[in-house]
Amino acid sequence: MLRRHMARWVLPLLLLVPLWAQAASVDNLRLWAAPDHSRLVFDLSSPASANVFTLEDPRRLVIDVANSELNADVSRLDLSESAIEKVRTGVRNGSDLRVVLELSRAIEPRHFSLAPNEQYGHRLVVDLEYPGESAVEDPIDPIESKIREQEIAAERAQKEAVAKGRDPSTVSPPRQAAQPHPKRDIIIAVDAGHGGEDPGAIGPSGTREKDVVLEMAKRMARLINATQGFKAVLIRDGDYYVGLRQRTRIAREQKADFFVSLHADAFNSPRPHGSSVFALSQSGATSETAKWLAASENRSDLVGGVDGNLSLDDKDEVLRGVLLDLTMTATLNDSLTIGGRVLDRMGRINELHKPRVEQAGFVVLKSPDIPSLLVETGFISNPEEERKLQQGGYQQRMVESIFGGVRAHFQRNPPPASLLAWQRDQGRGGAGDEYRIQPGDTLSEIAARHNVPVGRLRQANELNGDVIRVGQVLRIPSS
Ligand SMILES: [Zn+2]
Repeated sequence: MLRRHMARWVLPLLLLVPLWAQAASVDNLRLWAAPDHSRLVFDLSSPASANVFTLEDPRRLVIDVANSELNADVSRLDLSESAIEKVRTGVRNGSDLRVVLELSRAIEPRHFSLAPNEQYGHRLVVDLEYPGESAVEDPIDPIESKIREQEIAAERAQKEAVAKGRDPSTVSPPRQAAQPHPKRDIIIAVDAGHGGEDPGAIGPSGTREKDVVLEMAKRMARLINATQGFKAVLIRDGDYYVGLRQRTRIAREQKADFFVSLHADAFNSPRPHGSSVFALSQSGATSETAKWLAASENRSDLVGGVDGNLSLDDKDEVLRGVLLDLTMTATLNDSLTIGGRVLDRMGRINELHKPRVEQAGFVVLKSPDIPSLLVETGFISNPEEERKLQQGGYQQRMVESIFGGVRAHFQRNPPPASLLAWQRDQGRGGAGDEYRIQPGDTLSEIAARHNVPVGRLRQANELNGDVIRVGQVLRIPSS
Protein backbone atom coordinates (compact mmCIF):
# COMPACT_ATOMS: atom_id res chain seq x y z
CA MET A 1 0.00 0.00 0.00
CA LEU A 2 2.65 2.47 1.15
CA ARG A 3 4.74 1.63 -1.89
CA ARG A 4 1.87 2.36 -4.21
CA HIS A 5 1.42 5.82 -2.70
CA MET A 6 5.09 6.59 -3.08
CA ALA A 7 5.13 5.48 -6.67
CA ARG A 8 2.32 7.87 -7.41
CA TRP A 9 4.38 10.92 -6.63
CA VAL A 10 7.82 9.60 -7.62
CA LEU A 11 6.70 8.95 -11.17
CA PRO A 12 5.94 12.58 -12.12
CA LEU A 13 9.34 13.61 -10.77
CA LEU A 14 11.09 11.08 -12.99
CA LEU A 15 9.21 12.40 -15.99
CA LEU A 16 10.69 15.84 -15.41
CA VAL A 17 14.15 14.51 -16.27
CA PRO A 18 14.57 14.70 -20.05
CA LEU A 19 15.16 11.18 -21.46
CA TRP A 20 18.12 12.19 -23.64
CA ALA A 21 20.09 13.42 -20.65
CA GLN A 22 19.75 10.18 -18.77
CA ALA A 23 22.96 8.15 -18.91
CA ALA A 24 22.74 4.45 -19.59
CA SER A 25 23.92 2.40 -16.68
CA VAL A 26 26.15 -0.63 -17.24
CA ASP A 27 24.73 -2.86 -14.54
CA ASN A 28 26.66 -6.00 -15.28
CA LEU A 29 29.40 -7.43 -17.52
CA ARG A 30 29.46 -11.03 -18.65
CA LEU A 31 32.19 -12.90 -20.50
CA TRP A 32 31.91 -16.08 -22.60
CA ALA A 33 35.13 -17.79 -23.73
CA ALA A 34 34.88 -19.96 -26.87
CA PRO A 35 37.81 -21.66 -28.67
CA ASP A 36 37.66 -19.16 -31.55
CA HIS A 37 36.43 -16.00 -29.81
CA SER A 38 35.67 -14.28 -26.53
CA ARG A 39 32.36 -12.50 -26.10
CA LEU A 40 31.97 -9.60 -23.67
CA VAL A 41 28.40 -8.55 -22.94
CA PHE A 42 27.41 -5.27 -21.30
CA ASP A 43 24.00 -5.34 -19.59
CA LEU A 44 22.57 -1.84 -20.02
CA SER A 45 19.65 0.03 -18.47
CA SER A 46 18.92 1.56 -21.88
CA PRO A 47 20.44 1.25 -25.37
CA ALA A 48 23.82 2.94 -25.87
CA SER A 49 26.07 3.29 -28.88
CA ALA A 50 29.71 2.30 -28.74
CA ASN A 51 32.97 2.95 -30.52
CA VAL A 52 35.31 -0.05 -30.51
CA PHE A 53 38.93 -0.06 -31.73
CA THR A 54 42.24 -1.83 -31.16
CA LEU A 55 45.59 -0.39 -30.10
CA GLU A 56 49.04 -1.95 -30.44
CA ASP A 57 52.07 -2.10 -28.11
CA PRO A 58 50.75 -3.33 -25.83
CA ARG A 59 47.80 -4.99 -27.49
CA ARG A 60 44.53 -3.47 -26.28
CA LEU A 61 40.88 -3.19 -27.22
CA VAL A 62 39.16 0.06 -26.37
CA ILE A 63 35.39 0.18 -25.95
CA ASP A 64 33.88 3.66 -25.58
CA VAL A 65 30.24 3.48 -24.54
CA ALA A 66 28.50 6.79 -25.19
CA ASN A 67 26.79 8.58 -22.31
CA SER A 68 27.09 5.67 -19.89
CA GLU A 69 28.26 4.99 -16.40
CA LEU A 70 29.60 1.83 -14.82
CA ASN A 71 27.62 0.32 -11.96
CA ALA A 72 29.26 -3.09 -11.96
CA ASP A 73 32.36 -4.58 -10.42
CA VAL A 74 34.68 -5.52 -13.32
CA SER A 75 37.15 -7.17 -10.97
CA ARG A 76 34.65 -10.00 -10.50
CA LEU A 77 34.83 -10.93 -14.18
CA ASP A 78 36.37 -14.38 -14.69
CA LEU A 79 38.96 -13.83 -17.44
CA SER A 80 40.26 -17.40 -17.57
CA GLU A 81 40.49 -18.96 -21.06
CA SER A 82 39.59 -15.64 -22.67
CA ALA A 83 41.85 -13.33 -24.69
CA ILE A 84 41.58 -10.70 -21.97
CA GLU A 85 44.33 -10.33 -19.39
CA LYS A 86 43.10 -7.27 -17.56
CA VAL A 87 40.19 -4.83 -17.63
CA ARG A 88 40.56 -1.11 -16.89
CA THR A 89 37.74 1.41 -16.85
CA GLY A 90 37.50 5.18 -16.80
CA VAL A 91 35.38 8.17 -17.77
CA ARG A 92 35.93 9.88 -21.11
CA ASN A 93 34.64 13.26 -22.32
CA GLY A 94 32.87 13.74 -19.02
CA SER A 95 30.00 11.36 -19.70
CA ASP A 96 31.28 8.39 -21.75
CA LEU A 97 32.44 5.13 -20.26
CA ARG A 98 35.79 3.86 -21.49
CA VAL A 99 36.66 0.19 -21.01
CA VAL A 100 40.17 -0.92 -21.95
CA LEU A 101 40.90 -4.63 -22.35
CA GLU A 102 44.52 -5.72 -22.18
CA LEU A 103 44.87 -8.61 -24.59
CA SER A 104 46.99 -11.76 -24.63
CA ARG A 105 46.63 -12.31 -28.39
CA ALA A 106 45.69 -10.74 -31.70
CA ILE A 107 41.94 -10.31 -32.13
CA GLU A 108 39.44 -8.91 -34.60
CA PRO A 109 36.69 -6.99 -32.82
CA ARG A 110 33.03 -6.96 -33.80
CA HIS A 111 30.21 -5.35 -31.87
CA PHE A 112 26.43 -5.06 -31.99
CA SER A 113 23.43 -4.27 -29.78
CA LEU A 114 20.77 -6.71 -28.66
CA ALA A 115 17.22 -5.79 -27.67
CA PRO A 116 15.72 -7.19 -24.44
CA ASN A 117 14.57 -10.82 -24.41
CA GLU A 118 13.01 -13.05 -21.75
CA GLN A 119 16.18 -13.22 -19.72
CA TYR A 120 18.17 -10.08 -20.40
CA GLY A 121 17.55 -6.39 -21.02
CA HIS A 122 19.41 -4.09 -23.44
CA ARG A 123 22.86 -5.40 -24.27
CA LEU A 124 25.99 -4.31 -26.03
CA VAL A 125 27.89 -7.33 -27.34
CA VAL A 126 31.60 -7.13 -28.17
CA ASP A 127 33.13 -10.18 -29.87
CA LEU A 128 36.89 -10.67 -29.87
CA GLU A 129 37.48 -13.06 -32.75
CA TYR A 130 40.74 -14.99 -33.04
CA PRO A 131 41.98 -14.90 -36.63
CA GLY A 132 42.72 -18.35 -38.07
CA GLU A 133 41.48 -20.21 -35.03
CA SER A 134 39.34 -23.35 -35.21
CA ALA A 135 35.92 -23.20 -33.60
CA VAL A 136 36.47 -26.58 -31.99
CA GLU A 137 38.95 -27.53 -29.30
CA ASP A 138 40.39 -30.63 -30.93
CA PRO A 139 40.10 -30.71 -34.73
CA ILE A 140 40.41 -34.12 -36.41
CA ASP A 141 43.83 -34.99 -37.70
CA PRO A 142 44.70 -34.00 -41.27
CA ILE A 143 45.29 -37.56 -42.50
CA GLU A 144 41.83 -38.73 -41.41
CA SER A 145 40.45 -35.60 -42.94
CA LYS A 146 42.14 -36.38 -46.27
CA ILE A 147 40.75 -39.91 -46.29
CA ARG A 148 37.28 -38.61 -45.61
CA GLU A 149 37.64 -36.06 -48.40
CA GLN A 150 38.47 -38.83 -50.86
CA GLU A 151 35.45 -40.79 -49.72
CA ILE A 152 33.19 -37.80 -50.17
CA ALA A 153 34.66 -37.27 -53.66
CA ALA A 154 33.97 -40.89 -54.57
CA GLU A 155 30.40 -40.71 -53.29
CA ARG A 156 29.79 -37.52 -55.22
CA ALA A 157 31.27 -38.98 -58.41
CA GLN A 158 28.78 -41.85 -58.15
CA LYS A 159 25.89 -39.46 -57.61
CA GLU A 160 27.05 -37.43 -60.58
CA ALA A 161 26.99 -40.59 -62.70
CA VAL A 162 23.43 -41.30 -61.61
CA ALA A 163 22.44 -37.73 -62.45
CA LYS A 164 23.86 -38.18 -65.95
CA GLY A 165 22.09 -41.51 -66.39
CA ARG A 166 25.30 -43.54 -66.29
CA ASP A 167 25.86 -46.74 -64.38
CA PRO A 168 27.43 -45.61 -61.08
CA SER A 169 29.46 -48.84 -60.82
CA THR A 170 31.50 -47.75 -63.84
CA VAL A 171 32.81 -44.81 -61.86
CA SER A 172 36.09 -45.78 -60.34
CA PRO A 173 36.79 -43.85 -57.18
CA PRO A 174 40.42 -42.90 -56.53
CA ARG A 175 41.79 -46.33 -55.61
CA GLN A 176 44.81 -46.99 -53.47
CA ALA A 177 44.85 -50.78 -53.50
CA ALA A 178 48.48 -50.96 -52.41
CA GLN A 179 47.85 -48.90 -49.32
CA PRO A 180 46.63 -50.44 -46.09
CA HIS A 181 42.99 -49.98 -45.14
CA PRO A 182 42.67 -46.57 -43.45
CA LYS A 183 40.40 -47.96 -40.68
CA ARG A 184 39.26 -44.46 -39.92
CA ASP A 185 36.92 -43.47 -37.12
CA ILE A 186 33.33 -42.54 -37.88
CA ILE A 187 32.94 -38.93 -36.82
CA ILE A 188 29.83 -37.89 -34.93
CA ALA A 189 29.25 -34.16 -34.47
CA VAL A 190 27.40 -33.56 -31.21
CA ASP A 191 25.73 -30.17 -30.99
CA ALA A 192 24.48 -28.84 -27.68
CA GLY A 193 21.74 -26.38 -28.64
CA HIS A 194 21.83 -22.70 -27.63
CA GLY A 195 24.57 -21.49 -25.24
CA GLY A 196 26.01 -18.23 -23.96
CA GLU A 197 23.57 -15.38 -24.53
CA ASP A 198 20.91 -17.83 -25.67
CA PRO A 199 19.68 -19.87 -22.69
CA GLY A 200 17.11 -21.82 -24.73
CA ALA A 201 13.97 -22.87 -22.89
CA ILE A 202 13.74 -22.39 -19.14
CA GLY A 203 11.96 -24.88 -16.87
CA PRO A 204 9.46 -24.00 -14.13
CA SER A 205 12.16 -24.28 -11.47
CA GLY A 206 14.73 -22.35 -13.50
CA THR A 207 16.62 -25.17 -15.30
CA ARG A 208 18.14 -23.79 -18.48
CA GLU A 209 18.04 -25.82 -21.68
CA LYS A 210 21.56 -24.69 -22.69
CA ASP A 211 22.98 -26.23 -19.50
CA VAL A 212 21.28 -29.64 -19.57
CA VAL A 213 21.94 -30.14 -23.27
CA LEU A 214 25.63 -29.27 -22.80
CA GLU A 215 25.87 -31.84 -19.99
CA MET A 216 24.22 -34.42 -22.24
CA ALA A 217 26.45 -33.50 -25.20
CA LYS A 218 29.57 -33.99 -23.07
CA ARG A 219 28.27 -37.34 -21.82
CA MET A 220 27.53 -38.38 -25.37
CA ALA A 221 30.99 -37.34 -26.57
CA ARG A 222 32.61 -39.39 -23.79
CA LEU A 223 30.48 -42.38 -24.75
CA ILE A 224 31.34 -42.02 -28.44
CA ASN A 225 35.07 -41.62 -27.80
CA ALA A 226 35.02 -44.72 -25.61
CA THR A 227 33.52 -46.72 -28.49
CA GLN A 228 36.02 -48.30 -30.88
CA GLY A 229 35.72 -46.94 -34.39
CA PHE A 230 33.93 -43.72 -33.42
CA LYS A 231 35.09 -40.22 -32.62
CA ALA A 232 33.07 -37.29 -31.31
CA VAL A 233 33.33 -33.63 -32.25
CA LEU A 234 31.62 -31.26 -29.83
CA ILE A 235 30.20 -28.28 -31.70
CA ARG A 236 30.42 -26.26 -28.49
CA ASP A 237 32.04 -27.46 -25.28
CA GLY A 238 31.38 -24.47 -23.07
CA ASP A 239 28.80 -21.83 -22.29
CA TYR A 240 29.04 -19.69 -25.42
CA TYR A 241 26.85 -19.19 -28.45
CA VAL A 242 27.58 -20.65 -31.88
CA GLY A 243 25.57 -19.40 -34.88
CA LEU A 244 23.31 -21.97 -36.54
CA ARG A 245 25.12 -21.87 -39.89
CA GLN A 246 28.40 -22.02 -38.03
CA ARG A 247 27.29 -25.25 -36.32
CA THR A 248 26.82 -27.11 -39.59
CA ARG A 249 29.96 -25.45 -40.96
CA ILE A 250 31.99 -26.85 -38.07
CA ALA A 251 30.52 -30.31 -38.70
CA ARG A 252 31.51 -30.07 -42.37
CA GLU A 253 34.98 -28.81 -41.58
CA GLN A 254 35.42 -31.69 -39.18
CA LYS A 255 34.26 -34.12 -41.92
CA ALA A 256 31.47 -35.43 -39.73
CA ASP A 257 29.61 -38.55 -40.85
CA PHE A 258 26.61 -37.62 -38.75
CA PHE A 259 25.32 -34.55 -36.91
CA VAL A 260 23.02 -34.60 -33.90
CA SER A 261 21.67 -31.49 -32.19
CA LEU A 262 20.46 -31.92 -28.60
CA HIS A 263 17.60 -29.83 -27.24
CA ALA A 264 14.91 -29.80 -24.55
CA ASP A 265 11.48 -28.67 -25.67
CA ALA A 266 9.25 -26.11 -24.05
CA PHE A 267 5.61 -25.24 -24.36
CA ASN A 268 3.54 -22.51 -22.75
CA SER A 269 1.65 -25.11 -20.73
CA PRO A 270 3.23 -27.64 -18.34
CA ARG A 271 1.31 -30.59 -19.77
CA PRO A 272 3.15 -31.62 -22.97
CA HIS A 273 5.89 -34.17 -22.34
CA GLY A 274 7.93 -36.81 -24.09
CA SER A 275 10.94 -36.99 -26.41
CA SER A 276 10.93 -36.39 -30.14
CA VAL A 277 13.29 -36.70 -33.09
CA PHE A 278 13.36 -34.30 -36.04
CA ALA A 279 14.83 -34.54 -39.52
CA LEU A 280 14.74 -31.88 -42.19
CA SER A 281 11.51 -31.54 -44.12
CA GLN A 282 11.57 -32.20 -47.84
CA SER A 283 10.13 -28.76 -48.64
CA GLY A 284 12.71 -27.14 -46.39
CA ALA A 285 15.39 -29.04 -48.22
CA THR A 286 14.19 -27.87 -51.59
CA SER A 287 14.18 -24.20 -50.70
CA GLU A 288 17.55 -24.62 -49.08
CA THR A 289 18.88 -26.13 -52.27
CA ALA A 290 17.75 -23.00 -54.04
CA LYS A 291 19.58 -20.92 -51.48
CA TRP A 292 22.73 -22.97 -51.88
CA LEU A 293 22.58 -22.43 -55.61
CA ALA A 294 21.98 -18.72 -55.27
CA ALA A 295 24.83 -17.94 -52.95
CA SER A 296 28.08 -18.34 -54.82
CA GLU A 297 30.10 -18.34 -51.60
CA ASN A 298 28.12 -21.28 -50.35
CA ARG A 299 28.51 -22.99 -53.66
CA SER A 300 32.25 -22.66 -53.57
CA ASP A 301 32.19 -23.88 -49.99
CA LEU A 302 30.26 -26.99 -50.93
CA VAL A 303 31.93 -27.82 -54.19
CA GLY A 304 35.38 -26.33 -53.83
CA GLY A 305 35.79 -26.51 -50.10
CA VAL A 306 34.60 -29.99 -49.32
CA ASP A 307 35.37 -31.76 -52.54
CA GLY A 308 38.61 -30.82 -54.24
CA ASN A 309 38.64 -33.72 -56.71
CA LEU A 310 35.40 -33.19 -58.55
CA SER A 311 34.97 -29.85 -60.20
CA LEU A 312 31.45 -28.75 -60.96
CA ASP A 313 32.49 -25.38 -62.30
CA ASP A 314 31.81 -26.30 -65.91
CA LYS A 315 28.46 -27.99 -65.26
CA ASP A 316 25.25 -26.10 -65.79
CA GLU A 317 22.99 -24.88 -63.02
CA VAL A 318 20.41 -27.59 -63.64
CA LEU A 319 22.90 -30.38 -63.08
CA ARG A 320 24.20 -28.58 -60.06
CA GLY A 321 20.66 -28.50 -58.69
CA VAL A 322 20.14 -32.18 -59.45
CA LEU A 323 23.36 -33.09 -57.67
CA LEU A 324 22.45 -31.10 -54.60
CA ASP A 325 18.97 -32.57 -54.62
CA LEU A 326 20.36 -36.07 -54.84
CA THR A 327 22.75 -35.41 -51.99
CA MET A 328 19.94 -33.90 -49.95
CA THR A 329 17.61 -36.82 -50.67
CA ALA A 330 20.21 -39.47 -49.92
CA THR A 331 21.20 -37.63 -46.78
CA LEU A 332 17.59 -37.23 -45.73
CA ASN A 333 16.90 -40.93 -46.23
CA ASP A 334 19.83 -41.74 -43.94
CA SER A 335 18.61 -39.17 -41.43
CA LEU A 336 15.16 -40.76 -41.34
CA THR A 337 16.56 -44.28 -40.98
CA ILE A 338 18.86 -43.25 -38.15
CA GLY A 339 16.05 -41.23 -36.59
CA GLY A 340 13.83 -44.30 -36.53
CA ARG A 341 16.50 -46.32 -34.75
CA VAL A 342 17.07 -43.53 -32.23
CA LEU A 343 13.35 -43.14 -31.57
CA ASP A 344 13.01 -46.87 -31.11
CA ARG A 345 15.61 -46.86 -28.32
CA MET A 346 14.47 -43.58 -26.74
CA GLY A 347 10.98 -45.03 -26.44
CA ARG A 348 12.36 -47.55 -23.96
CA ILE A 349 13.53 -44.90 -21.50
CA ASN A 350 11.03 -42.08 -21.94
CA GLU A 351 7.58 -41.61 -23.35
CA LEU A 352 7.62 -40.40 -26.94
CA HIS A 353 5.95 -37.13 -27.78
CA LYS A 354 5.36 -38.36 -31.34
CA PRO A 355 5.80 -41.98 -32.45
CA ARG A 356 7.48 -41.04 -35.73
CA VAL A 357 10.48 -39.01 -36.88
CA GLU A 358 9.10 -35.54 -37.45
CA GLN A 359 10.30 -33.25 -40.22
CA ALA A 360 10.78 -29.51 -40.10
CA GLY A 361 12.99 -26.82 -41.55
CA PHE A 362 15.52 -26.46 -38.72
CA VAL A 363 18.56 -24.52 -39.90
CA VAL A 364 21.00 -26.84 -38.11
CA LEU A 365 19.66 -29.78 -40.12
CA LYS A 366 20.27 -28.16 -43.49
CA SER A 367 23.58 -29.80 -44.30
CA PRO A 368 23.22 -31.29 -47.76
CA ASP A 369 25.92 -33.89 -47.24
CA ILE A 370 25.70 -34.92 -43.58
CA PRO A 371 22.77 -36.95 -42.22
CA SER A 372 21.44 -34.84 -39.35
CA LEU A 373 18.92 -35.14 -36.55
CA LEU A 374 17.59 -32.79 -33.94
CA VAL A 375 16.56 -34.52 -30.73
CA GLU A 376 14.19 -32.92 -28.26
CA THR A 377 15.21 -34.97 -25.23
CA GLY A 378 12.10 -33.97 -23.26
CA PHE A 379 9.91 -31.02 -22.30
CA ILE A 380 11.80 -28.83 -19.86
CA SER A 381 8.50 -26.98 -19.31
CA ASN A 382 7.01 -30.13 -17.81
CA PRO A 383 7.99 -30.23 -14.10
CA GLU A 384 8.44 -34.01 -14.07
CA GLU A 385 10.68 -34.00 -17.16
CA GLU A 386 12.56 -30.92 -15.98
CA ARG A 387 13.52 -32.93 -12.90
CA LYS A 388 14.53 -35.96 -14.98
CA LEU A 389 16.60 -33.91 -17.45
CA GLN A 390 18.78 -32.70 -14.58
CA GLN A 391 19.57 -36.20 -13.32
CA GLY A 392 22.92 -37.65 -14.38
CA GLY A 393 21.50 -41.16 -14.65
CA TYR A 394 18.67 -40.07 -16.89
CA GLN A 395 21.00 -37.96 -19.05
CA GLN A 396 23.27 -40.96 -19.46
CA ARG A 397 20.43 -43.31 -20.46
CA MET A 398 19.17 -40.67 -22.89
CA VAL A 399 22.52 -40.25 -24.70
CA GLU A 400 23.08 -44.02 -24.68
CA SER A 401 19.77 -44.51 -26.44
CA ILE A 402 20.54 -41.81 -29.01
CA PHE A 403 24.05 -43.05 -29.74
CA GLY A 404 22.75 -46.64 -29.69
CA GLY A 405 20.55 -45.82 -32.66
CA VAL A 406 23.35 -44.03 -34.50
CA ARG A 407 25.79 -46.84 -33.84
CA ALA A 408 23.37 -49.53 -35.02
CA HIS A 409 22.99 -47.67 -38.30
CA PHE A 410 26.73 -47.34 -38.92
CA GLN A 411 27.35 -50.96 -37.98
CA ARG A 412 25.02 -51.94 -40.79
CA ASN A 413 26.19 -49.24 -43.18
CA PRO A 414 29.81 -48.39 -42.40
CA PRO A 415 31.57 -45.85 -44.65
CA PRO A 416 34.07 -47.78 -46.84
CA ALA A 417 37.26 -46.39 -45.25
CA SER A 418 36.05 -46.85 -41.67
CA LEU A 419 37.33 -49.32 -39.11
CA LEU A 420 33.80 -50.73 -38.91
CA ALA A 421 33.83 -51.49 -42.65
CA TRP A 422 37.21 -53.17 -42.29
CA GLN A 423 36.01 -55.25 -39.35
CA ARG A 424 32.91 -56.29 -41.27
CA ASP A 425 35.00 -57.33 -44.28
CA GLN A 426 37.40 -59.27 -42.09
CA GLY A 427 34.50 -61.15 -40.56
CA ARG A 428 33.03 -61.92 -43.94
CA GLY A 429 36.34 -63.14 -45.39
CA GLY A 430 37.28 -65.19 -42.35
CA ALA A 431 34.07 -67.18 -42.08
CA GLY A 432 34.11 -68.70 -45.55
CA ASP A 433 37.82 -68.87 -46.28
CA GLU A 434 39.39 -70.84 -43.50
CA TYR A 435 41.11 -74.17 -43.68
CA ARG A 436 41.82 -76.54 -40.82
CA ILE A 437 45.08 -78.41 -41.41
CA GLN A 438 44.73 -82.17 -41.87
CA PRO A 439 47.45 -84.85 -41.32
CA GLY A 440 49.80 -84.95 -44.31
CA ASP A 441 49.09 -81.39 -45.51
CA THR A 442 51.91 -79.15 -46.59
CA LEU A 443 51.76 -75.39 -46.91
CA SER A 444 52.56 -75.42 -50.62
CA GLU A 445 49.82 -77.98 -51.32
CA ILE A 446 47.25 -75.95 -49.42
CA ALA A 447 48.33 -72.85 -51.33
CA ALA A 448 48.02 -74.65 -54.66
CA ARG A 449 44.59 -76.11 -53.78
CA HIS A 450 43.25 -72.65 -52.91
CA ASN A 451 44.95 -71.00 -55.84
CA VAL A 452 46.97 -68.51 -53.78
CA PRO A 453 50.73 -67.91 -53.84
CA VAL A 454 52.37 -69.58 -50.86
CA GLY A 455 53.95 -66.26 -49.89
CA ARG A 456 50.55 -64.63 -49.48
CA LEU A 457 49.30 -67.56 -47.45
CA ARG A 458 52.30 -67.21 -45.15
CA GLN A 459 51.74 -63.45 -44.90
CA ALA A 460 48.04 -63.77 -44.15
CA ASN A 461 48.78 -66.14 -41.28
CA GLU A 462 51.95 -64.48 -40.08
CA LEU A 463 54.01 -67.62 -40.68
CA ASN A 464 57.79 -67.34 -40.87
CA GLY A 465 58.58 -70.71 -42.44
CA ASP A 466 56.73 -73.73 -43.75
CA VAL A 467 56.08 -75.38 -40.38
CA ILE A 468 52.36 -76.03 -39.80
CA ARG A 469 50.46 -78.04 -37.18
CA VAL A 470 47.58 -80.46 -37.68
CA GLY A 471 44.36 -78.80 -36.47
CA GLN A 472 45.74 -75.31 -37.01
CA VAL A 473 43.26 -72.99 -38.79
CA LEU A 474 44.67 -71.00 -41.69
CA ARG A 475 43.09 -67.90 -43.11
CA ILE A 476 42.95 -68.17 -46.89
CA PRO A 477 43.39 -64.75 -48.51
CA SER A 478 41.22 -64.10 -51.54
CA SER A 479 43.15 -64.60 -54.77
ZN1 LIG B 1 16.32 -25.84 -28.13
